[in-house]
Amino acid sequence: MAGTKTGDFVELISPFLRRKMSELEIAHGMNSAEWRAIALQYVKNPVEAAVSPQERRRHYESEITLQFNGQPLAGVERLYRRTALLEPTTVCAAHCRWCLRGQYPVKTLSEGEIVNAARYFGEAQECAEVDEILITGGDPLMAPKLLRISFQALAAHAPNIRTIRIGTRVPFQDPDRINGDLLSVLASLPGHRIEIGVNVNHPIEFWPESRAAIARIKATGATIYNQHPLLKGVNDDLAVLAQLYSLMRDNGIEAHYLFHAIPMQGMRHHRTSVKKGAELAMRLSASGEFSGRAKPHYALMTDIGKIVLYDGAIIAHRPSDNSLLLRSGYRVEDRKKWNPSWRIPASVEVDDEGFMCVWYKDGEDEAWSELGLWGNLPLASNDTGPRANSIAG
Ligand code: SF4
Repeated sequence: MAGTKTGDFVELISPFLRRKMSELEIAHGMNSAEWRAIALQYVKNPVEAAVSPQERRRHYESEITLQFNGQPLAGVERLYRRTALLEPTTVCAAHCRWCLRGQYPVKTLSEGEIVNAARYFGEAQECAEVDEILITGGDPLMAPKLLRISFQALAAHAPNIRTIRIGTRVPFQDPDRINGDLLSVLASLPGHRIEIGVNVNHPIEFWPESRAAIARIKATGATIYNQHPLLKGVNDDLAVLAQLYSLMRDNGIEAHYLFHAIPMQGMRHHRTSVKKGAELAMRLSASGEFSGRAKPHYALMTDIGKIVLYDGAIIAHRPSDNSLLLRSGYRVEDRKKWNPSWRIPASVEVDDEGFMCVWYKDGEDEAWSELGLWGNLPLASNDTGPRANSIAG
């Protein structure tokens, strides 16, 4: 599950990914860029235990901890005016080591909790401007029953919701799960816009099975987009990114955000500097190598939400902890209006115009080899681990 009960985000690699890793090892070897592109994403590394004080246990805290209809709301988050989050389950097919949800508490919602959340989106005064729900987790495509309940509840109780987005890595972690049952859920609300946000990081992940799964999803009428992190040793390279974005275009996947890897605890080894990411994003956008329709926004996931790195967004650098002060377009009073239980993080300063500025820990640019980690990636075991599908189907 993308979450933890004990503070330990356990290694979980789907049988599909293990098979792909074995094939890559045989074809290219364990020191190849191809094998490492997958291993660095999924194999637990001992250096994760090295936690620095500036690193976050969570990327932000935006749960709505309110009562609604006499019940506590569960699995609901909100940071933005028009979009709210619903998290039916924290189960995933595999655990991405850098996941921003790796330290969330493990939780799967009951049908009653999902219906209560849908009523909240449809009836609560502070949701009057919400017209879009992002169903995330965890991976909602791991639990088709809960996804169907979520769709039905939103249709029945929240007529203001016109767009349903779903965040998933299943097409690239366990593509056989994109089956008739799941596809029937995705096709069940023809009056709504359905958008599937995948997370694909490297060209090697466009396995034939994954391409076919993407095609099956698209056949339901859903739009597919990609938002993904910049990961050291995986895709912090212009040629790799250019090939990735070209493959996305070929497979009908729109570009959305390219995220700087966030300062989660123990994840320093995955993070480049913000500057390196900005240079890559600029060269990617200005390369002329592929369609302008396939280019991402470079964004930083801060304690107060996403900040796209436009000119002037970085207003100070604090050398003592290598942090950047970022200017946002978010106001405290809006946040409290949209999410009455939201609290201002300690990293925030409010400017003269009432906009929040937030300190963000930068990353560093040593190569993996300089970090002394090159040979440090054996699979933890040969078994498949606890296959986290007990509630799916
Ligand atoms: S599938 Fe998504 S939620 Fe699950 S571990 Fe990976 S990034 Fe996190």
